[in-house]
Amino acid sequence: MKSFLSLAAWPFLLVSCCFILSFGFRHEGDLELFGLAVKPELVFFNLSYLWIIGWLLVLERVLPYRKDWQRNDGQIPADLGHTLLNKGLVQFTIVQLMGLPFFQHREATWLAGQPLLWQAAAGLLAAEFGLYWAHRFSHEWPLLWRFHAVHHSVRRLWLVNTGRFHFVDSNLSVLASVPFLLVTGISMDAIILVSAITAYIGILTHCNVDTRCGVLSWFFNTPNLHRWHHSTRLEEGNNNYGQNLVLWDQLFGTFFIKPVALLGEIGIREKMPSRWLRQLWVPFVWKRYQQES
Ligand SMILES: [Zn+2]
Ligand SMILES: [Zn+2]
Repeated sequence: MKSFLSLAAWPFLLVSCCFILSFGFRHEGDLELFGLAVKPELVFFNLSYLWIIGWLLVLERVLPYRKDWQRNDGQIPADLGHTLLNKGLVQFTIVQLMGLPFFQHREATWLAGQPLLWQAAAGLLAAEFGLYWAHRFSHEWPLLWRFHAVHHSVRRLWLVNTGRFHFVDSNLSVLASVPFLLVTGISMDAIILVSAITAYIGILTHCNVDTRCGVLSWFFNTPNLHRWHHSTRLEEGNNNYGQNLVLWDQLFGTFFIKPVALLGEIGIREKMPSRWLRQLWVPFVWKRYQQES
């Protein structure tokens, strides 16, 4: 039973979330909730997100990848603080970007008339190109690493630290990827689908579930690949930069796969304060902080 769960968890959760979201696309007109008109895609996306969180909470208990990652690391308030701040600021940045005249008057393109899944595939490929390079520069350029180190400073991976990014880091990823997504000319439904898939794959990459993804890891950023990306050993960690797909990693020579049973310690070599507000501040005083602590 456990080996079946290990194999089925990742594809089942991704496909079932997309299935729940599809009800939002099929529903005509707005939904009425507590007297308010709400977009059906938003309602069904939130339902699908609750669905995946519920499953992961159970699977992290019954099928953990590492039992020691179940122990409290004292980082839950900081993890949630970063997640909430990001949610607000990233949405603000996306709204500003989409409001730019260049993107607001997008012409209906040939791609926008294609089936939704084809459009989403094109959108994912384009957005991933920006995400790949933003992420790679965040590791290879010391000035950006100070911000990205907040994400990598965790000593365990689980669903709660999925959104643990310094807000500068997460907004840079948006600025590097959303323009690529928008110039494809795909429809708004396809943009919503790409954003939803990014959210589903994102929460799955950090889950502490003993997933077995097999060949899926040759195409998608699975938990099995992302755990290597968090390795303290740079020759292992400076790989697997893709957020959803690993095509660009494959093309640019940063694809790294080994059985996760061999993975050692995860985290960073530098110091990171434990409190949220200090984590927000530390990239700006990085060198001094590293010398003093
Ligand atoms: Zn990284
Ligand atoms: Zn991560």
